[in-house]
Amino acid sequence: MKIFYRPEQTALKNADCMSPSAQKPAQVVASWLSLHPTADLIGFEPLTRTDLALAHDRNYVNGVLDLEIPNGFGNKLPEIADSLLYTTGSFYAAACHAFTTKESAASPTSGFHHAGYDSGGGFCTFNGLMIAAQKLRQEQGAASVGILDLDRHYGDGTDDITWRLGLENYIVHYTFGGERITQGNAEEWLQNLPGILDRFAACDVVLYQAGADPHVHDPLGGILTTEQLYERDRIVFRTFLDLGVPVAWNLAGGYQKPLRKVLDIHDNTARAFVAAFG
Ligand SMILES: [Zn+2]
Repeated sequence: MKIFYRPEQTALKNADCMSPSAQKPAQVVASWLSLHPTADLIGFEPLTRTDLALAHDRNYVNGVLDLEIPNGFGNKLPEIADSLLYTTGSFYAAACHAFTTKESAASPTSGFHHAGYDSGGGFCTFNGLMIAAQKLRQEQGAASVGILDLDRHYGDGTDDITWRLGLENYIVHYTFGGERITQGNAEEWLQNLPGILDRFAACDVVLYQAGADPHVHDPLGGILTTEQLYERDRIVFRTFLDLGVPVAWNLAGGYQKPLRKVLDIHDNTARAFVAAFG
């Protein structure tokens, strides 16, 4: 398993006052390495302001990074701003690796899908999914990118950027948060998932957000059991392996305490990934 990671993508200072997402990368990576000691940690270049402006308003990018506009956590802490070129860089590196080599890869990042063209919120500042998709299109010649968002919540920022930039014919977007899925129909949804994934068959690469907050015990979730989340990930990775579509995957959501409960869910995604791709 290839993991695109640098320590700079983790914001450690003042971590108590925010969602766990900013401090999660380092802990997720440590947990994955204990599961898979042979996993490859691969460095990458941080993105630039110009890269972020491929999917965002330039004034918003500068305002956040210059600490004049609140980030998606609702604060102006420099340690968060400093991490953002690295979180988006990690995800782009995984996406670019998957696109160019056809080998699927992981990025221990989260906090993307509520970030719109000129606004953040919901612990999301910049939309690393859309930035990666735009960079792949403009620099690597991608013709179609899929965004499979299985976080509990609606990927409104992804839709906003797609619409504002007229990318409807380039982005294939499915967001779990846009469906009315409950514990009662969760099994039916899982059975239908391969059919949902078929819509990505013609994509050059799929960006998969393996959200942890659909979990039945998550305070913002309440839908899928641990076993059903594992089955979700197993179906996703097996289906894209069968379709021959490479995947770059990351994290999202996950608000159970202690954080170990969330890490266990991300560990299961890594297990499903290794079971499919080795
Ligand atoms: Zn969420």
